[in-house]
Amino acid sequence: MLNPESAELRWQAVQTRDKEADGEFVYAVRTTHIYCRPSCNSRQPNRENVEFFALPAAAEAAGYRACKRCQPRSAKLTNPRIELVQSVCDYLNEHAGNSSETTLEALAQQFHFAPQYLQETFRSVLGISPRQYAEARRLDHFKNTLRAAGSVTEAIYEAGYGSPSRVYEKATQQLGMTPAQYRQQAKGIQINYTAHPTHYGTLLIALTDRGVCAVGLYDDTPSATAALIHEYPQASIAHDETLASLAQRVVEHIDSGAPLPDLRWDVQATAFQWKVWQALTRIPRGETRTYGEVASAIGEPTAARAVAAACGSNKLALIIPCHRVIGSSGELRGYKWGIERKRELLASEQG
Ligand SMILES: [Zn+2]
Repeated sequence: MLNPESAELRWQAVQTRDKEADGEFVYAVRTTHIYCRPSCNSRQPNRENVEFFALPAAAEAAGYRACKRCQPRSAKLTNPRIELVQSVCDYLNEHAGNSSETTLEALAQQFHFAPQYLQETFRSVLGISPRQYAEARRLDHFKNTLRAAGSVTEAIYEAGYGSPSRVYEKATQQLGMTPAQYRQQAKGIQINYTAHPTHYGTLLIALTDRGVCAVGLYDDTPSATAALIHEYPQASIAHDETLASLAQRVVEHIDSGAPLPDLRWDVQATAFQWKVWQALTRIPRGETRTYGEVASAIGEPTAARAVAAACGSNKLALIIPCHRVIGSSGELRGYKWGIERKRELLASEQG
């Protein structure tokens, strides 16, 4: 953990876009999942959404992607110790699947430093040992393969764990449930859907027993169902004709302003995304707002870019009307289900 004082200094460097601080640390923004060097020119985030990391590898390990604008990976690291830790992280990422190559002894050989020195340097920069870092990466990898692999045993070997009994001990502790339960949980979802032809394209609506989990517009039924299967590879998915009337009501809302059916949402979201999506539902049919206006409406006037990102991650087309949000000079910007559809939807609502 960073002490409060140095977090404060880092935040000052971000606010002043201090070039001198480049290579000393990176900052990451929870709402956009992007990390930057301190001097990045992109719009400044709200303090409460910012997290600091000593080096790019640590931000990436926490799930952040490098900013395309400032390319934090290419900042010259100012401190040779941090540079060393960065190389060790990169090496560990690459070899996470092979536990014999990630021992302290193997690292010492690879990097030509005494094991003790490597261990201490790594710990002083990242706060954890190389072994703990490698374990965390392996667990990430394991979680991903559990969702995709044919069996738990397959996932265990693929993630580089030596033996099934050992992973049950360790992973059960780390996942908070057994690997089988973890995999079962994703697999157990039942999803019912309809793919309904409309003049905006094929409208897909999918529901779990907890609420609506996907709504989108596609060229045809096969591409609609393919998108659903891609999003929920482990779920049991069934066509349900009784949902056609629901699809009909959603289209009537766009076409003529009939009230939207009141549906519960079953979607994963951060608190910020949730706030943005709620705000979108308050934009009346026939009207538009800019990303900046939505940002102001939720009390975060500087968060227009994060609002755009939250619009882009909307999984419930039309129900959460992200098509009603446009650029500040009236340009349509993007739409996950096709910019032409956004144009048609707005024309129909405003016509
Ligand atoms: Zn940046």
